[in-house]
Amino acid sequence: MGLTERINKTDKLSYYEGQIPIEYVYTYGLGLEKFFRAIKDQGKFLASTCKECGVTYLPARSFCERCLVKIEGTTAVPGTGTVYSYTTVHLNMDESPKKEPALVALIDMDGTDCRFLHYLTGVKADKVKVGMKVKPALKAKKDRKGHIEDIVGFQPS
Ligand SMILES: [Zn+2]
Repeated sequence: MGLTERINKTDKLSYYEGQIPIEYVYTYGLGLEKFFRAIKDQGKFLASTCKECGVTYLPARSFCERCLVKIEGTTAVPGTGTVYSYTTVHLNMDESPKKEPALVALIDMDGTDCRFLHYLTGVKADKVKVGMKVKPALKAKKDRKGHIEDIVGFQPS
């Protein structure tokens, strides 16, 4: 069957296994680039505040998502926060079982109007509480690469 043929019988479908090599470069953009560079180089969390509406974004943005105005500058925030919600994850992205269940939390980030979704570390599921104060756990500086996994997770503070 060619690519332009109409599928009339779904029980007669065929497929071919193979790989399609794709090379690409992902760029963070101006705001996220500052955010990830600050974590990598200084272990700091950079936020940005819209002068028009006052919303403080984390990670830092270069444009306000609400007002669509340009945001100038960034401010370091502590990177601490409060657990807003959490769950236990038992499967990997490919739906295979994880060796160990992982805790994932939605965290209200201090000094911002944003929530961060990330792993909880250093705590057992039965000890996690909504409202629990947490702080970031970063990789050692030499191991940071400028991406979200530089943050190992958030642990009770
Ligand atoms: Zn705004």
